[in-house]
Amino acid sequence: MIADLHMHSTASDGVLAPAELMRQAAEAGVELVALTDHDTLEGLTEARAAALAAGIRWVSGVELSAQWQGHTLHVLGYGFDPAAPALLQALEEVRAGRWQRAQQIAERLAAKRMPGALEGAQEVQLAMGADADAPPARPHFADWLVREGHVSDRAEAFRKWLGAGKLGDIKQHWPALGEVVGQIRAADGMAVLAHPWQYGFTRSKLRRLLREFASAGGRGIEVVNGRQPPEQVAYLGKLSNEFGFLASCGSDFHHPGSPWMALGVMTAMPSDCEPVWADRLFNYT
Ligand code: AMP
Ligand code: ZN
Ligand code: FE
Ligand code: FE
Repeated sequence: MIADLHMHSTASDGVLAPAELMRQAAEAGVELVALTDHDTLEGLTEARAAALAAGIRWVSGVELSAQWQGHTLHVLGYGFDPAAPALLQALEEVRAGRWQRAQQIAERLAAKRMPGALEGAQEVQLAMGADADAPPARPHFADWLVREGHVSDRAEAFRKWLGAGKLGDIKQHWPALGEVVGQIRAADGMAVLAHPWQYGFTRSKLRRLLREFASAGGRGIEVVNGRQPPEQVAYLGKLSNEFGFLASCGSDFHHPGSPWMALGVMTAMPSDCEPVWADRLFNYT
């Protein structure tokens, strides 16, 4: 089965509207799908209808930002009730925090002689088809920095200004990891740690994270993120089994036209992993 359980729409920092994303996922042969926008459920209603119309199995999804030991982590939530009041309330707070953070990023960039970043990032975001009330995210700032000629491409924007440890890397608004896992569980969902390799942790630190994630109620890890190198996937697969986690996989698709990020395209999951869709949460639509 082709399962793609990690992708972004215009509800956060992707470029395809939720319905169009589902149409393209179906075209790409995806059979089980989750839309996992950053810290928002805004795209789910539209995407669900389109997924069901296209005959794809659907599970509710989200990618929540969390902080743990001074790092920003991403936690995927699956199969939760998208109308759960506590979850919606928590997301509303994060959204307000994202606006504050966007303002702070803009102030810090202005102090470095790059004024107008907030308005600029919003323009970029609107041009991508996002809702006007969605807070601009770092990729929108990155594209604005490129547009203004402050950097030559997105990668440089993150390397110099927005990436880990740089001025745009503002973490204080994210809820703690345990809190985020609790929010997903309280909405009857499953919490899965997104792209564990991407945090750049040492093996012992990653193990510490997985232990804490499990004891907080985390049920799985994303063993496959897009076209991740097979040796990384093998390592994550082993860790997943060692900790008794379920294994998730997804393209982390944001936009068409990238050779390393296409809908439904990802490294194979190790055959001895127990996939998240073995859980009964994945049998509801
Ligand atoms: P935000 O949600 O505003 O923190 O932005 C996070 C998003 O920025 C991620 O989901 C990626 O799409 C993008 N991103 C983060 N780090 C990098 C990087 N080093 N290079 C390119 N894109 C990045
Ligand atoms: Zn994203
Ligand atoms: Fe992520
Ligand atoms: Fe993502």
